[in-house]
Amino acid sequence: MTLENKTILVIGGGISGITAAVEAAEVGFEVILIEKEAYLGGRVARTYKYFPKMCPPSCGMEINFKRIRNNPRIKVLTLSEVTKITGDAGNFEVSVRKNPRFVTGRTAIPSSVVDKLSSEIDSDFNLGMNQTKALYYPHPMAFPPQYVLDKEALSPEDRAILENECGEGAIDFDQQPEELTFKVGAIIAATGWSPYDAQKMENLGFGRCENVITNVMMERLSDQTGPTQGRLIRPSDQKEIKNIAFAQCAGSRDEKFLPYCSAVCCMGSLKQARYVLEKDPEAHVSIFYIDIRTISRHEKFYYDLLENDRVTFIKGKVAKVAEDPNTQDLLIEAEDSLQGAKIHQTFDLVVLATGVVPNTAHAKIPYEGLQYDEYGFIRPNGVKGIYSAGCIQRPSDVSRCVRQATGAALKAIQCLKG
Ligand code: SF4
Repeated sequence: MTLENKTILVIGGGISGITAAVEAAEVGFEVILIEKEAYLGGRVARTYKYFPKMCPPSCGMEINFKRIRNNPRIKVLTLSEVTKITGDAGNFEVSVRKNPRFVTGRTAIPSSVVDKLSSEIDSDFNLGMNQTKALYYPHPMAFPPQYVLDKEALSPEDRAILENECGEGAIDFDQQPEELTFKVGAIIAATGWSPYDAQKMENLGFGRCENVITNVMMERLSDQTGPTQGRLIRPSDQKEIKNIAFAQCAGSRDEKFLPYCSAVCCMGSLKQARYVLEKDPEAHVSIFYIDIRTISRHEKFYYDLLENDRVTFIKGKVAKVAEDPNTQDLLIEAEDSLQGAKIHQTFDLVVLATGVVPNTAHAKIPYEGLQYDEYGFIRPNGVKGIYSAGCIQRPSDVSRCVRQATGAALKAIQCLKG
C-alpha cells in the first residue's frame, strides 16, 4: 500500500541528516530538515580536516549545501527542535519549536556595523576558546549564510547601534519562538553526538590544568578559522607547542565511564598527530594507548606514523596528569606495559581522546515506542516509519555516517512507497 503523505522529516543537520535529506529530495520527495543550531554541518563543520585524505570539511560540505540550495523540495529550519511526534508511518504529526535568530535576512548587515559592537560572548563554534560579538556570523562556511544575534548579551549601547545603523528591517528585536506543526509520512533521526564530559576523569586534569584540552578542541586549535588562526600555541601562555601528548581512551573502554570503544578517537589522534608534524618541523608527538584501532581499515595511516621518528607510541593508559605550577607544563604518569616500566614525562600540551556519546543519551527523539540501549544509542528499525543514521546508532566516522544516512533515506522511501 502506498502511503499518502510523501514528506520526509529529517531531524539533525549534521553530515548524516544532510545526506539523508539530499538523497531523498533528489529522487522527488519533499523533505523538511530540522537543525537545532543556527547553521547546518554539525560536528563535521567544526573539524579541521577529514581522515584519511586530510582534506578540509568544505570539501564535501559545499557540494551538499549547493545540492540543498538547488533543490526546492528541501525546506531547512535552523534554530529549531522537534518537541513532539505522534501518529504512525504515513501519518506522523510533528511539533517543532523554532527559536528566534532576530536577523531577518531581508537586508544585508554591513560588517562595519558589527565591528562597532563591544558586547561579546564565548564562541560556541570554537568551543569557548575565544570570544565573538553578540551579533555574529557562526563560521566562514555557515549555511544558511546569515548572522545570528544573542539578544540577551547585547548592551543597551550596542542595541542602539544596531537600531540606528542596520538597514530597515534587518533585525527584528521582537521575534518570539514559534510553535509549528508538520504532517509527514516518514522520519529520519540523525541528531548526532557529543564528546564525553572530560571533567569526569579527574585524574586527567581537564578543567584543572589549562593546557589539557580535548580532541574536539584540538580540531579548532588547528584550524585557520579557530581561536589561534591555526597556530599551535597553548592556552595558558601562548607558548609554541613543541612536545604534545595524546591520551587515548579518555573515558572510553572504562567501566566507570563509557564501557564501549568510541571507534573514531584512535584515527582522530593519528590525524591530529599529522597536524602537529605538518605545522611544526621541530614538534614531537607521544601517543599513550591501550590498542590502536583504525576504523574502516585505515591501518596504513597508522603504519606511516609508526615509522616517523617524531612520533612515539607508548602502550599504556595515562594514569595521571599533573601541572607544574611554575611553568604550567604537564607531567604525565603512565605505565609502559611493553617495557614494564613506569613513565614520568613532561609535555607542553595534553590532548584527551574523549569518547562519543550519542545525543539521544540526553535528549531522546520525542516519540513513544522508540528503543535505546543502556548507553542511549537508538535501536534501529524499532518503529515502522522512523529510521536512524549516524552516531545515534553507534560511534561512526564520516564515511560510515554517509552510508548509514543513504540507507536510512532508502528505508524511508520504501516505507512511503509501500
Ligand atoms: Fe580507545 Fe581508540 Fe577505541 Fe577510541 S577508538 S575508545 S582511543 S581504542
